[in-house]
Amino acid sequence: MNMGGLMISVSGVRGVVGEGLDPITVARFGVAFGTYLAKGSTVVVGRDTRTSGEMVKFLAVGGLLSTGCRVVDVGICPTPTVQMAIIHHEAEGGVAVTASHNPAEWNALKFMGREGMLLDREEGERLISIFENPDSYRYARWDEIKPIERDEKAIERHIEKVLSLADVEAVRRHKFKVAVDCCNGAGALIIPELLRRLGCEVVPLNCEPTGFFPHDPEPVAMNISELCRAVAESGADVGFAFDADVDRLTIVADGGEPLGEEMTITLAVDHFLSLRKKGPVVVNVSTTMAVDEVAKRHGCEVVKSLVGEVNVCEAMRERGAVIGGEGNGGVIVPDLHYGRDAVMGATLILEHMAEAGKPISGLVESIPRYCMVKEKVGLLEGVTKEELISQVRKLFSGLETDLTDGVKVFFEGGWLHIRPSGTEPVVRIIAEAEGKKRARELVEEGKKAIETAAILASRRK
Ligand code: MG
Repeated sequence: MNMGGLMISVSGVRGVVGEGLDPITVARFGVAFGTYLAKGSTVVVGRDTRTSGEMVKFLAVGGLLSTGCRVVDVGICPTPTVQMAIIHHEAEGGVAVTASHNPAEWNALKFMGREGMLLDREEGERLISIFENPDSYRYARWDEIKPIERDEKAIERHIEKVLSLADVEAVRRHKFKVAVDCCNGAGALIIPELLRRLGCEVVPLNCEPTGFFPHDPEPVAMNISELCRAVAESGADVGFAFDADVDRLTIVADGGEPLGEEMTITLAVDHFLSLRKKGPVVVNVSTTMAVDEVAKRHGCEVVKSLVGEVNVCEAMRERGAVIGGEGNGGVIVPDLHYGRDAVMGATLILEHMAEAGKPISGLVESIPRYCMVKEKVGLLEGVTKEELISQVRKLFSGLETDLTDGVKVFFEGGWLHIRPSGTEPVVRIIAEAEGKKRARELVEEGKKAIETAAILASRRK
């Protein structure tokens, strides 16, 4: 559903504050989520640093309290910290008030269930159907409404748990110099402190939790030129950039080269399988094939899931995966929790540098480098995503394909993935190949296939 800047999908509700994301919708989602959970459930609520954060949080909290939920407020913190607090409090659910990597004027609610996992498709649909049907709202009696409880230790517990899983001494011995760009998001409250405990010298950029983002918070190469410069000028061993709710991490190599967000999961998997634990790896079907090659070297299997954090987590649980993630910079370690965690991601990278005794630029030498090109196209009027994808599948039926999510077609030295977005009325086209030119060609091939498929699908009506 996309109603004038307000987007409601199975992954939550998001919109531009004052232009779609209005207070009434937020409060109603609080009521709907309280109704969705069993009566008297505990719900952990946290938020990122956005200027609208407090307003949106208290509206959602008010809605939750009206249904008789017990609300534990963990304050400003990363989304993965909220996920870990759900486990700590044995809560039935959680809400992260964050628009993640979206610009500062956006805000959103991310809903989580038991064990801190995001709601899956079925759960998300159930929540939306409650939201849309006010007659189903279940309000508590006046004497069943509870006060808000505050938990100020969530970030501290998160840091301690991450460090308990790491070889802290090995990292400390190297006294790494680390440049960090938190984009004035929630990372400002956890990353510099984590790094100090790992014995690092921190070069902080945008580490004030003000919610005024000096650049687009999506941690992709085009947004982090300031960090690249800082790494080069300060002679840092590595640079880390985080999105506003700290579930995505991008790495800048010594010297200042941005490695691209696909490299984060690739390096994390390489390190984890070589030194921590061997076992299956799960990544979404759009993730770089470098992960497959790295896992193969360690004799481990890579399972591909649908795109989306919860889909990766569900596949990980099913397959008993030891590590997983997404090519957007999300690293998931089940020993910590089932969710993308950039605090863990950054720690793994430092541990990798320490234990291999090599700089980042040396570590990436053994990793195959591919180029990825991503685009999206709108839908043709009157053709649904399902009809379109079914036609695209037919067009590529002679080739080797993976139909996990949309259609992924394998070519010599590359692949093309066409999939309907779960949150927007668009179809995404992603291609990866050894060179940019070939990846571009594959995307163009994908666009042509979509055009043909749209014509075929509309003719069938
Ligand atoms: Mg995020």
